[in-house]
This record gives sequence, C-alpha cells and structure tokens, in this order.
Amino acid sequence: MIISIASGKGGTGKTTIATNLAVALGEPVQLLDCDVEEPNAHLFLNPVMYRSLDVHLEVPEIDPARCTYCGKCREICQFNAIAILPNAALTFPELCHSCGGCFLVCTEKAMISKNRLIGVIETGARGPIRFVHGRLRVGEALAPPLIRRVKAETDNGVLTIIDAPPGTSCPVLAAVWGSDLVLLVTEPTPFGLNDLELAVAAVREMELPLGLVINRADVGDRRVHDYAAREKIPIFLEIPFDREVAETYARGELMVEKMPEWRGLMLSLFERIQAELEGGRLRKAAAGSR
Ligand code: SF4
Ligand code: SF4
Repeated sequence: MIISIASGKGGTGKTTIATNLAVALGEPVQLLDCDVEEPNAHLFLNPVMYRSLDVHLEVPEIDPARCTYCGKCREICQFNAIAILPNAALTFPELCHSCGGCFLVCTEKAMISKNRLIGVIETGARGPIRFVHGRLRVGEALAPPLIRRVKAETDNGVLTIIDAPPGTSCPVLAAVWGSDLVLLVTEPTPFGLNDLELAVAAVREMELPLGLVINRADVGDRRVHDYAAREKIPIFLEIPFDREVAETYARGELMVEKMPEWRGLMLSLFERIQAELEGGRLRKAAAGSR
C-alpha cells in the first residue's frame, strides 16, 4: 500500500502527519520524504542514515567537430535546452530533462553524454521504519527527476508513506503518482480551501482516491467541511488546535511520543484509510460484475 500525504500549500501539518503515522504504526514501514526542495521529515524522525547516493541527469554536450548544424536536435527538444546557430550549437543543461530525444535524432554522433549532479538521496532507519529522502542541489530547478529516484528506492511489499511537496505543480504530481490513496492535509481557512480545491483537482486528474485531514479544525470557518460534503470527499480525521502540539512541533519532537492520545489518532486514521481502500476495491468489483 502506498499512501501519499500532500497539501495544496505548505505549513498545514503534512510532515507532522507523515512522521507520526509512520511511528505510530510500529510495524515495518517506509517513509519517503519527496519534498526534495525542503526535506524536513528527518528532523522529527532522527533516523540513523547509512547510505548517501549522488543523483545525476544525463545531459548532452555537442561535439563541434562532428556537428553539421542540421537543427534536428533543437526541433525534438521540448524544453528549449538546445540552440543551433548558423555556426554554433549550444546546450543549456539546466533546462534539459534528460529525455534522450536529441541523442536519438543526431545521425552525426555529435551528441556527447555528460552527467549533471542534481542532488543526493540518503537512506536511513529508525527501528522498523526505513527512511529515504532526496535533497535537491542548491540552485537546481528540476525536482521531479530526483523525486522519481527517491521513489525508485521503494521496497515493494512494505507499507509506504510518501511525504509529498506542497502545492499542485509537477513535483507534487511526480510524488503522488502511483499511490493507492492521497491524503490531503488542510486547514479550515479561506486560503486552505482555495489551495485544497486546486489540490483536489490535481489528484482527481490522476484518478487517485483521496481523503482529508483537517488540521486546527476548530479555527477558521466551516467552508472546508461544506466543500468536502459537496464533493463527497471523506474526512478521515479532524485535529483541533492544541498549544501542546504547536510546542512539540517547534521542538522538533513527535506527538506520538509526547502525547499518548496521538497514537490512537494516527491508528484510527490508518484504519479509515484501509476502510476507504477496501470500500473502493469492493465498489470496483461490484461495478465490474454488472
Ligand atoms: S542533430 Fe547532431 S548534427 Fe544536427 S545540429 Fe544537433 S548535434 Fe548537430
Ligand atoms: S535530452 Fe531531451 S531535454 Fe535534454 S536536451 Fe536532449 S532533447 Fe532536450
């Protein structure tokens, strides 16, 4: 089972849910922090890291001695990473998505493969929790390739929790793609609702099951609840505002270790997720047998 935990905006408590859920389960589980631009799950989890792996993208460089300036590579490149002038060929590695198209079309063998460092993947463990996160190189713009590499570290057969980046852009889609369920963490404010609507649209575009956790549920108004009812999105958990939670978070500590009731909260959340997935499977089976 792969559960992605995402949110339309930062600061909603996404990482708090991801880390506390992983620890509360107390069984072999893996937590993949795919928020590669600002990974911080390790600060709460404190895993013992035992492996570090540089991640490179294969990018082209053009050999001027072989290039005939035919322009085929520029035509195939969807990312404007190549410019061909009458007597010069330029590549822009920071725009290259490493699709390999230009290597295929160059019949002159003028394309030389180079490696460009985009970040690092670090793996560690904390008790039964296997932990993997990616750290994007400072100044690097391309997060999705590194996110895909973090996900490639998934140990299939083990329950997986993905801490996705906030927002609704390409890195989020790269993180949640392939999940069994996306848990959207939100707050009952007008800003929360606005970002939630965008996040729901993105998840539905991928046809993934989803559910909500409403954090600081007693602050703000009821518009998120009304929206969820209208859109038939299940609310799995509501967490009221609690000063102790804020203080525990600020100290970089886990709620499940400082506030015993949180273990029950996280386990009931997991039960709701399992029930939703089971219900979905039954609904699909019933539709298929009709
Ligand atoms: S396809 Fe090859 S030969 Fe043509 S412009 Fe590109 S690098 Fe040069
Ligand atoms: S590998 Fe793909 S993205 Fe990169 S320069 Fe070539 S065609 Fe463009």
